[in-house]
Amino acid sequence: MKIIPISCSFDNYCYLIICLSSKKAAVVDPTEAYPVMAAVEENGVQLTTVLCTHHHQDHIGDIGELQQNYVDLDVICYHGDKDRISTANKYVKDGDLVEIGDLQGRVIFTPGHTSSSICYHFQNHLFTGDTLFGAGCGRLFEGTPEQMYNSLVEKIEPLADETKIYFGHEYTVKNLAFAQQVEPGNANIQKRLDLIKRNNGVSTPSTLELEKETNPFLRCSEDEVKAFAERSRGEAVNDLVEVFAELRRQRNTF
Ligand code: ZN
Ligand code: FE
Repeated sequence: MKIIPISCSFDNYCYLIICLSSKKAAVVDPTEAYPVMAAVEENGVQLTTVLCTHHHQDHIGDIGELQQNYVDLDVICYHGDKDRISTANKYVKDGDLVEIGDLQGRVIFTPGHTSSSICYHFQNHLFTGDTLFGAGCGRLFEGTPEQMYNSLVEKIEPLADETKIYFGHEYTVKNLAFAQQVEPGNANIQKRLDLIKRNNGVSTPSTLELEKETNPFLRCSEDEVKAFAERSRGEAVNDLVEVFAELRRQRNTF
């Protein structure tokens, strides 16, 4: 298995997932067709599948153009997005398997950013769309704080620490600046910023372990994070979902 991150407009990433034995490939969230087609050609693979994490235009915008160039493309989305992704032709639900050649991935339903957001889990690789970002998480456009919190903590956090995280946007530097404000005592945040500088601003993929160390949205139970939430709210917070909700509110205007 080989994964190629492709930088697109609007600071989006899409990803080409290649099955090395069959030379078949899938693309996750094709913002733009042109760089995807270039990567397909460069790697001499057959594009068979599009994996959609959610219905936002910056993730599905160029699927139609890909369909014009590759016949019989499987375009997969969550069944709840059937009416919102008109280019899709296969629909999945939580726990379903998707195939790329000889590779198998599992669908994880993670509502919060939208009501139908999903992640794709292939071996130790997780494609998170706009659910989990480097040091951040997606805005709550359709879900409640509780839904997003449960998606992150109950669905993603139990995966192996070494799981590589491939997210949908490069917001990591700004997210880490916010994280430093939340947790000035967390030295891992500056270390991660230094690492990104050495990598010329690119931080995908990260690992679940690194997110657990530096992503405030996965650290709601830390005393310093809770204290930040109480300070900015001006009153006590009663549970971890309230800490999460306050963090998300503060990040919206950061
Ligand atoms: Zn989105
Ligand atoms: Fe997006």
